[in-house]
Amino acid sequence: MARASEVLKTYHAKRDFKRTSEPDGHGKAKPSRKGRQRFVIQKHDARALHYDFRLEVDGVLVSWAVPKGPSLDPRDKRLAVRTEDHPLSYAGFEGVIPKGVYGAGTVIVWDKGTYRNLMGDKDKPLSMAESVAKGHVEVWLKGEKLHGGFALVRMRPRPRERRENWLLIKMDDEEADRRRKPVSSQPESVLTGRTIKEVEAEESEA
Ligand code: MN
Repeated sequence: MARASEVLKTYHAKRDFKRTSEPDGHGKAKPSRKGRQRFVIQKHDARALHYDFRLEVDGVLVSWAVPKGPSLDPRDKRLAVRTEDHPLSYAGFEGVIPKGVYGAGTVIVWDKGTYRNLMGDKDKPLSMAESVAKGHVEVWLKGEKLHGGFALVRMRPRPRERRENWLLIKMDDEEADRRRKPVSSQPESVLTGRTIKEVEAEESEA
């Protein structure tokens, strides 16, 4: 895989770091040791509310925007639109992206933890980078709200479709749960316990 600085070109091109409070990603964020790779899900109240699902792969956060957020019910297929890779330092970002700039709106860290690459256990093991390139990712999440296997599967592109549309699906394992709906029952940040509204209110006072 290309160096992180190459991969983050799009991230940098979309943002003016004089205007946004998001991390510029120029600091040296050390990739996690094997088996300690991070995942983070950020709830982002932008033009349309969505959940940014990010997996640490080779020193960057490979990212998808999930409008409805993750479900624990294996029957649900949640649209996940691939977005630009983010720097590792983004995993701790919570705050308000000001009006008039890319991604304007409030962000909280909705869930975080580590993950394991389940495709690495198959007969023909795939690295995370290979799985993403192939369009079929399977990970075991160890988060505060989410646990168990989740699959991300790239859909066949429609003509002239520029976005990469994927589906996020809870795998049918012992952590599947058809009743618990963490997106609605646990709306708060796992970093600070705040809701989107509370972060908004606090930042506008400051
Ligand atoms: Mn977003």
